[in-house]
Amino acid sequence: MEEVRVRIAPSPSGNLHVGTARTALFNYLFAKKNNGKFVLRIEDTDAERTSQEYIDNIFDSLKALGLNWDEGPDVGGPYGPYTQSERFDIYPKYVQELLDKGFAYECFCTPEELEAEKEEASANKKPYVYTKKCENLTDEEKAKLRAEGRKPAIRFNIAKAQKAFHKDSMLVFDDLVKGELHVDTDLLGDFVILKSNGTPTYNFAVVIDDMLMKISHVIRGEDHISNTFKQILIFEALGAEVPKFGHLGMILAPDRSKLSKRHGATAVSEFVEKGYLTDALINFVALLGWAPSDGQEVKSVDAIAQDFRINEISSSNSIFEYDKLNWMNSHYIKMLPIEELKERLKPYLTKYDLTELSDTEYTRMVEITYEPLTLLSDITDAVPYFFGDSVEIDEQTQTEVIDTEASQDVLKAFVEQAQDWTWTEENLHEKLEVFRGEFKEKGIKPKATMWAIRAAITGRTRGADMTATLAIIGKDKAIKRAKAAIK
Ligand code: GLU
Repeated sequence: MEEVRVRIAPSPSGNLHVGTARTALFNYLFAKKNNGKFVLRIEDTDAERTSQEYIDNIFDSLKALGLNWDEGPDVGGPYGPYTQSERFDIYPKYVQELLDKGFAYECFCTPEELEAEKEEASANKKPYVYTKKCENLTDEEKAKLRAEGRKPAIRFNIAKAQKAFHKDSMLVFDDLVKGELHVDTDLLGDFVILKSNGTPTYNFAVVIDDMLMKISHVIRGEDHISNTFKQILIFEALGAEVPKFGHLGMILAPDRSKLSKRHGATAVSEFVEKGYLTDALINFVALLGWAPSDGQEVKSVDAIAQDFRINEISSSNSIFEYDKLNWMNSHYIKMLPIEELKERLKPYLTKYDLTELSDTEYTRMVEITYEPLTLLSDITDAVPYFFGDSVEIDEQTQTEVIDTEASQDVLKAFVEQAQDWTWTEENLHEKLEVFRGEFKEKGIKPKATMWAIRAAITGRTRGADMTATLAIIGKDKAIKRAKAAIK
């Protein structure tokens, strides 16, 4: 069997989109499963929309997701260069081959002439298809147009190619995901493969690159199906082997519209900034169109690769459920080893002075606060009371919890007694138990006792384990805050 070689070919006109990440993942999985190669090619022919920042973002995001490529712009490979703009001198030869074989022709139409054609079609309520006006220009006519200063674009001759390789105008291929797909090529229209300024168009460059890079399978979004028909004809016209194609359903937002910024993050780097773990994100992305055979959805990419079969990908659209991603993320946060979690949380703790805590204290703080986190960034608002001398207390907590007579009694007693306590978590546990017992006898529920202490010292009525919190905050600060809460 021929070597499996797949690729992703992102255009660097934006940060890496989760949809592209899914396409990359399915290609990566298919390569892994078949001992094949996964190639990264940067399609930067549209210079105006391309930027180095986006190229870097594509590299960084794919790496962060663990989707490492075997061949690509940075790592090289036998069929480079892997950046389209560095391949411009490769394309003219194949344009010439198509011209020589009669599968392409020069088109001298001006943008204005083409616009007029389009308007006419629209006035007649017909879908626009290029009229082929330039297909049969004589040498003299061409010379005359050149003399006028016109530079030709090159168009692919659909009907010629179709006729040469198929029995009628119907073009059919067997999609790896969607099954048989067909089009009436009479509706396609001769498209430009080389612009008059000498740059190749996407549909042409992609075929030449896939052919020269020996790509065996092209797996990409279903928005490319109409391109695939055109590309198949170019492969055939060049006498090249046509790769197998598989088209993935679209990813839709929960409201079933196209996933866009207004639904939330869409770029991988945005998710990372927001505090999603890339392991959770890639696991979630895998489930957009693929389902594990054992029903066990939480899986590493390696485990998914074992189980992955391209013909089992769903051919329909998938819904991007942010809630499910959130659940997945909190699950992955809980699975992180504590040392790693400590490091991963640091970028979200920059507004605090971490040097206030020893490593042991920081570890303990993370241990008692990570469980409710959905995003790593949630840590920012979960821990302010571990830092600084004083805490902010909102009006309601002040009046309803701290200012009550019972709470004031609790706090006064706390300030007095705590001064003599040995400030370890273990000892605090015992002391607080006795302390609560004393107040229980006075008719104050243990819960209310702790509530008063928590509110005064953390400024909150809910939060992490109070004994551990006190131990981390330290005796001086704890007593200072309790004192400050006494009227
Ligand atoms: N540059 C194209 C895109 O970003 C690649 C399409 C393809 O995979 O052929 O959509």
